[in-house]
Amino acid sequence: MYYQPQFALVTLHITYFEALIRWNHPERGLVSPAEFLPVAERTRLIIPLSTWVLHEACRQLAVWLARPGGQHLRIAVNISPGYLHNGLLQRDVEAALAAAGLPGNRLELELTESSLLLDPARANELLGPLQAQGVRLALDDFGTGYSSIRHLRDFQVSNLKLDRSFVRQICVDVLDRRLVTALTALGHELGASVVAEGAETMDAVACLREAGCDIVQGYALGRLMPAATATRILQHEGMMIE
Ligand code: C2E
Ligand code: MG
Ligand code: MG
Ligand code: MG
Repeated sequence: MYYQPQFALVTLHITYFEALIRWNHPERGLVSPAEFLPVAERTRLIIPLSTWVLHEACRQLAVWLARPGGQHLRIAVNISPGYLHNGLLQRDVEAALAAAGLPGNRLELELTESSLLLDPARANELLGPLQAQGVRLALDDFGTGYSSIRHLRDFQVSNLKLDRSFVRQICVDVLDRRLVTALTALGHELGASVVAEGAETMDAVACLREAGCDIVQGYALGRLMPAATATRILQHEGMMIE
């Protein structure tokens, strides 16, 4: 499990870590999830793998919450369509939270619109009971694929994650800037925080702040890292806050 920080845009403090999986292969090195997740979905290995991800991410967050600089953190976990719709999500989330001793509101599930679109009514049935326990939802890669604004009202999304295709050129492309500004206003109007993915330069971070985004994630501020590195960074933040 690797982790990438998400920063509050105003203070630049870390508010979340997103759990991102890698396969550490003996010959091929770190294999990207884009290569093996589709295979896991086809073979249904996605189920034990997702169960493991939830437990590991919750366990790690509990460690960070107990450390200086970590008390306000949340963990974001990606949920694939096959896993959402097999019906084990609620059982696994409840077990992972209980094993780690975490309240539901420390966990955010990142879903893409395509996994909600598969069967929106069923998705709402599966997610509603978890949301009632405080678990938060993020709409990942928002604005790509078959976006439906309706999802924003039907699913009570806590965080709207704007896809990085809107973010890459934000300082140079006036249309991207207007789009991000407008989508941010839309998210805020519906009670969501807006997260910009893929900020690769400090210029982009500044333009995102101007557009009104709340949270930023990207190589400019932090790449994905093993848990031990994240722990060191938090320790440093804790010292700065005190
Ligand atoms: P995602 O959830 O949209 O995750 C963000 C992806 O953008 C990550 O790719 C991250 O490394 C990358 N990224 C972050 N900042 C930047 C940047 O500034 N520039 C660029 N070019 N890229 C950036 P990654 O780790 O390869 O993950 C790809 C996708 O695989 C994720 O997209 C997510 O959909 C899926 N995934 C990753 N881990 C898991 C997991 O544990 N379970 C499930 N079900 N899916 C996962
Ligand atoms: Mg994600
Ligand atoms: Mg994304
Ligand atoms: Mg993505």
